[in-house]
Amino acid sequence: MSVTDHVNLEEFMGGVKRRNPGQPEFVQAVQEVAEDIFDFIEDKEEYHEYQILRRIAEPDRVVSFRVCWEDDNSNIRVQRGWRVQNNNAIGPYKGGLRFHRDVNESVLKFLAFEQTFKNSLTGLPMGGAKGGANFNPKGKSDHEVMRFCQSFMTELFRHLGVDTDVPAGDIGVGTREIGYMFGQYKRIKNEFTGVLTGKGLEYGGSLIRTEATGYGAIYFLQDMLERVGNSIEGKNCVISGSGNVATHAAEKINQLGGKVLTMSDSGGFIYDPEGIDQEKTDWIKHHKTHQRGRIADYVEEFIGAVFHEGKRPWAVECDLAVPCATQNELDGEDAKTLIGNGCIGVSEGANMPVNLDGVHAFKAAETLYAPGKAANAGGVAVSGLEMSQNSARISWSEEELQKLLFDTMKGIHDRCVEYGGIAGSERIDYVRGANIAGFVKVADAMLAYGVV
Ligand code: GLU
Repeated sequence: MSVTDHVNLEEFMGGVKRRNPGQPEFVQAVQEVAEDIFDFIEDKEEYHEYQILRRIAEPDRVVSFRVCWEDDNSNIRVQRGWRVQNNNAIGPYKGGLRFHRDVNESVLKFLAFEQTFKNSLTGLPMGGAKGGANFNPKGKSDHEVMRFCQSFMTELFRHLGVDTDVPAGDIGVGTREIGYMFGQYKRIKNEFTGVLTGKGLEYGGSLIRTEATGYGAIYFLQDMLERVGNSIEGKNCVISGSGNVATHAAEKINQLGGKVLTMSDSGGFIYDPEGIDQEKTDWIKHHKTHQRGRIADYVEEFIGAVFHEGKRPWAVECDLAVPCATQNELDGEDAKTLIGNGCIGVSEGANMPVNLDGVHAFKAAETLYAPGKAANAGGVAVSGLEMSQNSARISWSEEELQKLLFDTMKGIHDRCVEYGGIAGSERIDYVRGANIAGFVKVADAMLAYGVV
């Protein structure tokens, strides 16, 4: 085959759409990556000849299974569970588990695809995977969640292993769920290994794993700002979400002298003109994670704050925006509103929170825009460090881990700069940088293996 008769981007995407009917999120994630990779590999014959992108965009395997459990009223409930093992060219499959009522195969395939690039960007030896179930943990008792997690792991365990596949948390899966699943794995296998990350500190978890994703997203934002001689100090920041990622992003913004104006959940967003400081952030952490309450309750607690029911926070005037809720929560119109209001930096704490129109709008406006596969990689990076600690049967100090997280985010930023330069300009296209830097390592490993 010669360089001239390769399929072009449109033909490639046509094939992806045909082979994945009814999976818009997966097609969207592949499109976002393919737009940059096609350009990059234009003159790189080997990547074409060995069909590298075509192979990364076809998961190694998708396992789907039935999960039966009994609710507190003795009703038999049936859910569907999945594990999408996308690619293990550079290390064991690694990626979170999501329990949410909207979970389906398309969502998990997009997340596993993205995870492959994200994990590569961390510089650690981890392949890409994602899993979960269409189980809605909202309103369920602890015992219901426990029975569901045990049933889920009773099937999933056969696909896992420290050198095979190591899941972690994601939306709807936190320390409580990881505890139930780790306990069940240990019971079935009669093995104590680091087969899940995000574990409690008493049984092999790592310090700062909880903080890592949110802190990392703000370190990345800071790195982008510093590169152009700016900083977070004194900036107004709009954050969506109020879970683990959002609250720790807020904590770091406060530590670096910024002001957090909003937080949200599926019910709407709260706007606090005084700023959501550390004390208020702690209240949200406790209220949402431990009491499993709603963000709307914030306005009962803190005078001056307003709750906007059913709305997203993107129309609030700000300098910086950190979407930390879920995929496609910020579209092209939202992006234009943010740009029009003077927003100069966006860092994705969630996975693919900005849709393709939004990505194109931020690129066109020259906004400092960091895609999730780079900006939120701090979480899985500390998961990788948890795996190392478990294998060596040691625990590193908080100080060591904080430094490793900080340096890892800088490393990712620098790799994006290396591959994301815009010809004839000082600016960086962080989407392109992250896509190419993540791709190259996986692609070169795949070339080394030949056709497998
Ligand atoms: N779910 C997280 C992510 O999207 C963390 C995955 C992990 O720690 O393995 O990267």
